[in-house]
Amino acid sequence: MVKQLVFCTTLIISFGILAFTFFRIFSFFRLTKPYPVKNINKRFILMLKVAFGQTKIFRKPVIGFFHALVFWGFCIILFGSLEMIIDGMFALHKSFSSLGEAYNIIMAIGDIFAFVVLIAILIFLFRRTILHVKRFSGIEMLSTSHADANFALTLILLLMVSLLGMNAFWCALNPNKFSFVYPAGNILSKRFAYMPNVHLALYYKMCWWVHILVIFLFMNILPYSKHFHVFMSVPNVFFSRLDPLGKLPNMDNVTKEVKIMMDSNLAYTTPAENEVPPEKFGVSDPEDVTWKTYLDSLACTECGRCTAVCPANITGKKLSPRKVIMNSRARMKEKGPFLIKNKSYVDGKSLIRDYVSTEEIWACTTCNACAQECPININHPILIVDMRRFLVMEESSAPSGLNTIFTNIQNNGAPWQFSPEDRMLWTKELTRKNISQNI
Ligand code: SF4
Ligand code: SF4
Repeated sequence: MVKQLVFCTTLIISFGILAFTFFRIFSFFRLTKPYPVKNINKRFILMLKVAFGQTKIFRKPVIGFFHALVFWGFCIILFGSLEMIIDGMFALHKSFSSLGEAYNIIMAIGDIFAFVVLIAILIFLFRRTILHVKRFSGIEMLSTSHADANFALTLILLLMVSLLGMNAFWCALNPNKFSFVYPAGNILSKRFAYMPNVHLALYYKMCWWVHILVIFLFMNILPYSKHFHVFMSVPNVFFSRLDPLGKLPNMDNVTKEVKIMMDSNLAYTTPAENEVPPEKFGVSDPEDVTWKTYLDSLACTECGRCTAVCPANITGKKLSPRKVIMNSRARMKEKGPFLIKNKSYVDGKSLIRDYVSTEEIWACTTCNACAQECPININHPILIVDMRRFLVMEESSAPSGLNTIFTNIQNNGAPWQFSPEDRMLWTKELTRKNISQNI
């Protein structure tokens, strides 16, 4: 009864804090712009392929394989965690075992995966702390980013050790009864065979409590860490942009203006009754982005795959697509609470310049390598181009080379400095030459 009470209190506090954190982070979605979601079937297939199949992770086959194992392992181990919560709430023991053979198989896979995940996490920690992989560094990767990643990995390690310990002590308490249900635990249990049952039971309970408490701690730390992708990557892939990479969303009002310019008959079209002029063109702060772009920023794993393939970054430019995404999240975190509370907030700062410099914004070649490489389908160029739209259309502050092109397009209907009347002059020359050749 006491155990049940302690468990339920801890559970309520943990989920209460988690719900509060989620509410706070998710309330910022209210500040963002719409993003249409169609083709549910296509999205579902994409989610199965990219999120659950981990297909993009396998572009780096070795480390991708280990990451996929960790992901799949988590999915299976989640079943056991759910059982522990039910057990703790209702003072039961292995409550799902009534599922029979299916339960045994799931637990056996979970037990093996606990061992595999443990090895994978040790490899990840080794890479992060000893090998110093280049893509884990960059100006956006502060010491806190590294500490956060290592701390989360250590917690996962502790989760796996306690899970394996639990299974091992359980097998030692019940020799030869659960060798199929907990194969890895059963092998480990041989080491504890000499212990009296009272000690085995005590260690089993200790592992049980450590495991469940670390789960509660881990889930509450996730939203403040790069490992928030554990929650956000699957929905982020589901809501991926389905347009081919490189296709940018048009701005409806601008498209209409251009069409009117090209077809004089359209100039007389009266605006629809519900048509409102845009308050602002492009993106200068996080409340200008669509909710999908905000979701992108929450889901970013900070893996650096995008920056590692960015030609601008590789050739020494300041641009790092990972930084753009991370900074848009940081700016929302800074500004969001005030916007929710007071509806407006002016601190003399903005996403452009204070978080992402114009130098970075104009360094992008819009090649889409970053979006192609991102394992969870984040689309960086859409955000970068939207920031450019703000600079050009709200501030007229494009680089001088582009301003010349814009002026030419406005005056001549083409990027070149020649009048439209002179456009076919070259054909006269051609005709003269042809005639002289024929003669
Ligand atoms: S689209 Fe821009 S940010 Fe992305 S890889 Fe290409 S140059 Fe870098
Ligand atoms: S945007 Fe994608 S590729 Fe880049 S760091 Fe984030 S998750 Fe990794």
